[in-house]
Amino acid sequence: MHPFTLERPRDLAAALILRAEAGRNDAPAEYIAGGTDMVQLLQEYVRRPDRVVSLAGLLDDRIGSTQQGLRLGAAATMADVAAHPVVAREFPVIAEALLNSASPQVRNQATMGGNLLQRTRCPYFRDIGYADCNKRTPGSGCAALKGENRWHAILGTSEACIAAHPSDLAVALVALDAVVELRGPDGERSVPVARLHRLPGDAPHIETTLQPGEVITAIVVPASPAARRSHYLKVRDRASFEFAVVSAAVALEMEGERIKEARVALGGVGTKPWRAPEVEAALSGASLDPDGLRQAAALAAQNARGYGHNTFKIELMQRAIVRAVETAGGRA
Ligand SMILES: Cc1cc2nc3c(=O)[nH]c(=O)nc-3n(C[C@H](O)[C@H](O)[C@H](O)COP(=O)(O)OP(=O)(O)OC[C@H]3O[C@@H](n4cnc5c(N)ncnc54)[C@H](O)[C@@H]3O)c2cc1C
Ligand code: SF4
Repeated sequence: MHPFTLERPRDLAAALILRAEAGRNDAPAEYIAGGTDMVQLLQEYVRRPDRVVSLAGLLDDRIGSTQQGLRLGAAATMADVAAHPVVAREFPVIAEALLNSASPQVRNQATMGGNLLQRTRCPYFRDIGYADCNKRTPGSGCAALKGENRWHAILGTSEACIAAHPSDLAVALVALDAVVELRGPDGERSVPVARLHRLPGDAPHIETTLQPGEVITAIVVPASPAARRSHYLKVRDRASFEFAVVSAAVALEMEGERIKEARVALGGVGTKPWRAPEVEAALSGASLDPDGLRQAAALAAQNARGYGHNTFKIELMQRAIVRAVETAGGRA
């Protein structure tokens, strides 16, 4: 492990001054919350910050609900959010995304903020034995392009990076138009979760739109009829303790037998949590007829590109959308 100074600021204002940064490997200081991702990266020499700034005890861990929606403090754990009765009843896609993530031990420790900012599971990024990784070392190349890329993205990729975004929670939140509240040295602001992560382009080492020092303080999820009739479908290599090969978060508002409004977001396939507006538009006004659903789902694949080992995801993604819409549509 690269030697670093662990900072334990007495309050959030003192933490922000240290201008730690999440989601970029060249940052000299980085925050740590539950530590379930960060410690692994420190241990493996993937992250080498000079300072690690602990957020323990500095951020809200409460889960609040009103008729307008849900407010999740950034320090709330995955386990507490998944078990909250309002989350399970009014926002099932969030509870299902969390319960299908990691293990009970990890969920007891991992926080909402840390989950959204966890780093990719690309094996070349996480193993410094591979020299070629633009995300870890800008300008070094991308070992995954011609290597084993079964786990990698088919949407939003670039010649510099094809790493898939790993968070299940983020996919559910993007489907529900959730917003993150941020606080930084220059004040507070809000950003839709859909705009928190960047496409890799030619700078895959910069993963988020956060400014230096900014922390996520809370996640706000608006209530809606669609949120109540929502579902998270995760396809993975084994039944637990595994990241998504492909996932689909679907939320539907129904009018009789027809879909009034659909929200569709995808995981395991995008370089960031992936919203599929073209699928949503095609589903609007449609019935749950399987042929129609299949045609709508095909629109998600319009700009998809496979890299060999991961090309199967183009078909799997469409099947996952159909299945998730059928399940959400079948809910009362
Ligand atoms: C074995 C295993 C299996 C897993 N499986 C899954 C899975 O199936 N699905 C899934 O979605 N996840 C999975 N995870 C990832 C897990 O969900 C994350 O490790 C966890 O959510 C990170 O939260 P944390 O609080 O521990 O963050 P940390 O590890 O402390 O931090 C992660 C990153 O977020 C930054 N950060 C943390 N909090 C804030 C904040 N409030 N503001 C700004 N920056 C912040 C840190 O600087 C760091 O860069 C798995 C992890 C493990 C170890
Ligand atoms: S896909 Fe991205 S993270 Fe993986 S090796 Fe290529 S540049 Fe690195």
